[in-house]
Amino acid sequence: MVIGEMTQDVDLVVVGAGPGGYPAALRAAELGIKCVIVDSKPKPGGVCLHEGCIPSKALLHAAEAIDSAATASTFGVKFGQPEIDVNQLRAWKQGVTDKLSQGIVGMCKSAGVEIIQGKAIFEDSRTLRIEGGAEGAPARIKFKHAILATGSRPVTLRDLSLTSKRLLDSTGALALEDVPASLLVVGGGYIGLEMGTVYAALGSQVTVVEMTDGLLPGVDRDLVRPLANHLQQRFKSILLNTKVTAVKETKDGLTVTFEGKDAPASATFEKVLVAVGRRPNSDGIGLEKTQVEIDKFGFAVVDEQCRTRDKRILAIGDVSGQPMLAHRATRQGIVAAEVLAGLPSAFDNRAIPAVVFTEPEVAWCGLTDNEAKAQAITVGSAKFPWSASGRAQTLASAAGQTKVLFCPETRQVLGVGIVGPRAGELIAEAVLAIEMGATLEDLVVTIHPHPTLSETIMEAATAASSRLERQQTSKLREASKAAP
Ligand code: NAD
Repeated sequence: MVIGEMTQDVDLVVVGAGPGGYPAALRAAELGIKCVIVDSKPKPGGVCLHEGCIPSKALLHAAEAIDSAATASTFGVKFGQPEIDVNQLRAWKQGVTDKLSQGIVGMCKSAGVEIIQGKAIFEDSRTLRIEGGAEGAPARIKFKHAILATGSRPVTLRDLSLTSKRLLDSTGALALEDVPASLLVVGGGYIGLEMGTVYAALGSQVTVVEMTDGLLPGVDRDLVRPLANHLQQRFKSILLNTKVTAVKETKDGLTVTFEGKDAPASATFEKVLVAVGRRPNSDGIGLEKTQVEIDKFGFAVVDEQCRTRDKRILAIGDVSGQPMLAHRATRQGIVAAEVLAGLPSAFDNRAIPAVVFTEPEVAWCGLTDNEAKAQAITVGSAKFPWSASGRAQTLASAAGQTKVLFCPETRQVLGVGIVGPRAGELIAEAVLAIEMGATLEDLVVTIHPHPTLSETIMEAATAASSRLERQQTSKLREASKAAP
């Protein structure tokens, strides 16, 4: 058979080698399923590793170092102005992602999972055509099952449909070609605020334009407030309730026209980053030739076992719905592999943590105040301000808070929100608490190391528990007074 016309027969093909796809393939191999991965990119890891989570966190680490050096002057340690070698920073970031990608190649090799490079297109519910395959790649793959893990891509704006090197999406911003003197970030969500933080630390004058009335729409306002206050200092300006209506390239940069009460009519920026959301990669891959149902947002419709309407095809990660987060994809990948191996596995997690890796970080899991309000769920809530945390004070980071939401009857922990440095690391305890059905008392009696920021979770639970106790005592007192 001529290479390139070959058809490979497999039990399972995983389409996409991101944080959903490769864990799915590794788990499937572990469970004895013969599988291959197909990915159009030469290096596995997906958007998360190459154009998302990992490179952005590498750059945010550099931003944190710059900011820490600046704030050290408050406790008498003074550094000079940082000298930023953009080429070295870019090379270091690339080194981080390359090493991790090599790690995935190594894990797949030792698990016997072949990675095929090429674009996979469904011809029917049993066959994939491989387009633009690398040397040695088969032309077609016949499969018993497929796991769709194709991820998502940035949304583009019609008003900003300009071809210009100055107009960036998240991939372009992470490429760190240079540090522009001025940067407009369109969208005050996860990506806009994380990348705005990076570029502001590197020296750009950053303006954020957000069409709603606050940054990180949907996130509880008390969690966003400390971040918004900090960003007001770090960014040149934040324009809320503002839309971009046009953009034009001029010799000095991109001239952007705004529509908003407090916005200037127009302004010119060296570069513009558009970060207004992501859309699932469910189009252009032949899914219409299968039974997979796609909803009005472009997501593949899945059940708790990650099965689509096509009995041979499962879907995981960004292509299968919100929230589009790498760790959700990973868990779903493992579930999908286990389901195919006949295990009683389901994606029924109670809490999916979300983290915005800004300075300070914002993290939450389980029920939020906004969701409780929208769903008319009665919740109790208690907060612990970091101004009362010894560890936060020693870190010169007192502008944080930890909030616990709970059921007033059962005292079960329903949600936790944290804002402050390292909130993303701290939230893991809360996720475990919610998964385990922990009550306030479970958090109260658990000894947390002192002095650490983790104590703030215990303290918020203690504040809630003490309040409930006081209410109980006063009810009993009232009852005993009323008794004959
Ligand atoms: P997002 O949904 O977080 O934020 C987009 C923002 O753009 C919103 O605030 C929205 O109101 C605003 N917006 C939309 N249209 C606009 C317009 N025309 N003008 C001005 N503002 C406009 O989207 P994102 O920041 O692009 O991130 C996409 C997804 O990627 C996130 O939803 C998240 O799932 C994922 N992500 C996660 C992380 C993380 O986990 N730390 C980091 C980056 C991205």
